[in-house]
This record gives sequence, C-alpha cells and structure tokens, in this order.
Amino acid sequence: MTVRVPFMTLEPRGDEPAIRAEIDRVIRSGWFILGPELEAFEVEFATATGSAFAVGVGSGTDAIALALRALGIGPGDEVITTPLSAAYTALAILHTGATPVFADVDPIRLTIDPAAVEAAVTPRTAAIVPVHLYGQPADMPRLQALADRHGLAMVEDCCQAHLATCGGRPVGSFGIAAAYSFYPTKNLGALGDAGAVTTDDASLAAKLRRLRNGGQSDRYHHVEPGWNSRLDEIQAAVLRARLPFLAGRNARRRALAARYRRALAGAPVIVPSECDAGHVYHLFPILSRQREALTAHLQQAGIGTLVHYPVPIPRQPALAGIARPESCPVADRVCSEVLSLPLHPDLTDTDADLVASAVRSFTAPAQAPAS
Ligand SMILES: *Cc1c(COP(=O)(O)O)cnc(C)c1O
Repeated sequence: MTVRVPFMTLEPRGDEPAIRAEIDRVIRSGWFILGPELEAFEVEFATATGSAFAVGVGSGTDAIALALRALGIGPGDEVITTPLSAAYTALAILHTGATPVFADVDPIRLTIDPAAVEAAVTPRTAAIVPVHLYGQPADMPRLQALADRHGLAMVEDCCQAHLATCGGRPVGSFGIAAAYSFYPTKNLGALGDAGAVTTDDASLAAKLRRLRNGGQSDRYHHVEPGWNSRLDEIQAAVLRARLPFLAGRNARRRALAARYRRALAGAPVIVPSECDAGHVYHLFPILSRQREALTAHLQQAGIGTLVHYPVPIPRQPALAGIARPESCPVADRVCSEVLSLPLHPDLTDTDADLVASAVRSFTAPAQAPAS
C-alpha cells in the first residue's frame, strides 16, 4: 500500500543548510556543554515564552522532575496530574519519589478537570502538574484559583504547548514553573533530546541551574545531590536557529486545524472543541467509537495515523499498585476512541483535504448486536 500522507516526516526540512552551518559553528568553537549557545538560547526562549528565566535540561521528563525537586517535592508528597498524557509526565513525578495521583479529564477540553483535582486533594498534596494536551491549554484560571486556595505548587507541563496562550496569557506563566520538551516531533524540536524549565523566580532558576549540573556551586563543589541533565551546545544552536520560526509554524498548524474543522463538519467522527484560541495544535485528535475500522480505512487510503494515547497512565503496568485506574472513566473512554490525524507545519492543504475526504468517506461497519 502506498503511503500518500505519512503521519509526519522528520526529514531535513527547508532549514537544513542553516542548521548545518550552526552545528559547524559549534564544532569549530570546541565548546559543547554549558556554553554561549545555551546561555543565548535560555535568554531567547525565556523572552519568547514571556518568562524571566529558562534553564535548559536534557529532556522534558527531566524538566518536570527537576522543577518538582527544586520545589522540594519528594517522598511522602502527592502530586496531582492527568491520566491522559505522555506517560513521562507521571514518570517524572515518580522519579522525584513523590506519588502521582490522577484526576480525570474534562470530557470537552480533554485536559485535567479542576473539579476532579479538587476532589483528589489530601493533606499530603504538594503540587499539581496540569498538561496542555495536544496544544490546548488546560483550564488555568480555575486550576490556579484552586492551587492558591489549597497552597499547592503548580508546574505546567508545556511539552505540547510551546507559545500557546490561555485567555490571551502565555501558558507557563500561571504556575511557579513550566516544563518544555524539545523532542524532535514537538512544536519546537531539536535534533535529539532536549528540554527546559521556565520560571519567573530567580532563586528557583538558580537552584535548577545547580540541580541540572550535579548540584555544584562551583566546579567540583557539590553542595546538594543534583543530577546531570544539560541541554548541549549543538542542540541549543539548533533550537536557536528554529525558535524564530516557531510562531509562524504554530500559525500554520492553526490554519490546518481550521481547515480540518471545516472539512470534517458532518463527518462520522467527533472533533474535540477548540476551547481557547491560543491552542497550538501539537496534534489533531478526533474521536470515533469505531477507531480500529477507521484506522484501517485511512491506512487503505494511504494515510498515517497514531493514537495519543492508547492507555490511560494509571492503567500502565509501570504504575501498577500506585494509582487507582477506575477513577478516570473519561480518560478510559478517550483512550479507546482517540485517533490523531496528520498535522504538522509542512503538511500541504492538498494533503489535509485528502485526509479529511478519506475521513468523510468512512462508513462505520455494522455493530455487532449486544448479546
Ligand atoms: C514529550 C512529552 C513529555 C516528555 O518529554 P521528553 O522530552 O520526551 O522527555 C512529557 N509530557 C508531555 C505532555 C509530552 O508530550
């Protein structure tokens, strides 16, 4: 079967010569870790996200874990998060020694439901980690009010939401810190693993700079048990070259999403609502009760799809004995129905139209009668 519209492609895009020149420059400089490229990227990324500081780390997972650790969160603490995300959100919480507690998602927004968070708060709750899933901001005004009321720290997982806004305000600016991933498929992607924490808090930023670098105050002087998680100079240079195009590429994602929405009106699938104009469409999920048949139909038409995500995090074997999976029925349903259509800035209108018409032409197979 010929692939007509792959789910995504990571081949060098138009920026390959520019990226190569940046990499060559770093190679010639002979400086590969904690140097001028990272320093410059941290300033540029902080500016772009509307925060005072950015601290480059090794991955988005490390960004979440180190932000929580810098806030003093660890064993004995509970951290409330969403069951519907990349499992790394919860794995990062586990890595600090704290216990992830799952609050179900809102059925419309598909991000963590503030009412479910409220119900999950206990005297041990130390923090909330909302995820701006698929690029759509979580309900931040309500989550922030709740966090303030209960005295909880909030670390925003912005790994799918670079430059998204919520009610016009940048995501990442609601909590004390925000975590970003620059995994190659993200809205801002490196050519390998990379991540960052943003914050407006100078002492938190200083602590993060120590923690990512072995807990050193000065070279070979380890004042606290830190970790080794640094965004290297080559990746920083790649990200600096790409950052100026991020807003434009997000705009292209939004235009494609609007095109899909128009073309899919009346199609035999559910298209989740856009709850905020600041959505940056890391992904374009649709919902179908006949997901397997729809996937096969699209594959027949040469269209690649992926499922984000097939298993609610608390149902992952890795979390067995830690979480109560039965408490997240909405996430259960979404995980059994959700399907991501191809959406990336280099997708053409023609390809998007091809995808949409293939979805429209899907006819659900007759359902087996309930026995
Ligand atoms: C990608 C992602 C992560 C993990 O980031 P890595 O850089 O792969 O460690 C965490 N949370 C969400 C929501 C993500 O999409």
